[in-house]
Amino acid sequence: MKKINIAIDGYSSCGKSTLAKDIAKKLDYKYIDSGAMYRAATLYFLDADIDIQDHDAITKQLNKVNISFEYKDGKPFTCLNGINVENRIREMRVARAVSHLAIISSVRNKLVTQQQALGKEKGVVMDGRDISTVVFPDAELKIFVTAEIDIRAERRTQELLAKGIDANLDDIRANLRDRDYIDSTREDSPLSQADDAILLDNSNLDRESQLEKVLVWAQEKIHAANGSSL
Ligand code: C5P
Repeated sequence: MKKINIAIDGYSSCGKSTLAKDIAKKLDYKYIDSGAMYRAATLYFLDADIDIQDHDAITKQLNKVNISFEYKDGKPFTCLNGINVENRIREMRVARAVSHLAIISSVRNKLVTQQQALGKEKGVVMDGRDISTVVFPDAELKIFVTAEIDIRAERRTQELLAKGIDANLDDIRANLRDRDYIDSTREDSPLSQADDAILLDNSNLDRESQLEKVLVWAQEKIHAANGSSL
């Protein structure tokens, strides 16, 4: 059975990664969190005390940033230069800086090249901001996810608190608004809905109903890729 690639884009904290993980598990595909790669690169520069606004310095030091995904009990975690940074990349100091790093074309080129290599064999579910438009413009299934800002902020706060990471609802809402603005208005690969992406507003959908809906779309595309109909 031929596999497909599934690209999921959308605003910050609208449940893209939960959805992407759920589909990948159901289909036995590989889940890749492209946002974690931008976050890990940001962490590197924050720890190295390099100013995120200094694009030349960032570009020069980029070769020192090596991001990979490892798996424990089937769950992926993000590594920066071989060290597990999965929790550290979720901290607010990273959330505040990441969209400023993500506007830099040299950073995007490096990470997009790596993301494309990861999806070469198909069978990948990747979430981010430019997956349908830049990373996998030929993905068989493209989904653009959105949800109301207050719902997103509340979900994100609960998710961080559950992980034991400090979280304040107002700070998180402000951060989501800032990132959405920067991500949608940057010059290189701005967040936008691809013409052939399906819009999914999950403000009033629970996790199971959302997964059910998307699995139907995925099965249709998998059958089409294999030349059969449902
Ligand atoms: O997905 P997540 O919210 O973790 O992404 C963090 C940030 O990384 C986004 O706000 C955006 O600035 C950047 N990003 C990006 N392109 C992607 C994924 C994330 O620019 N494909």
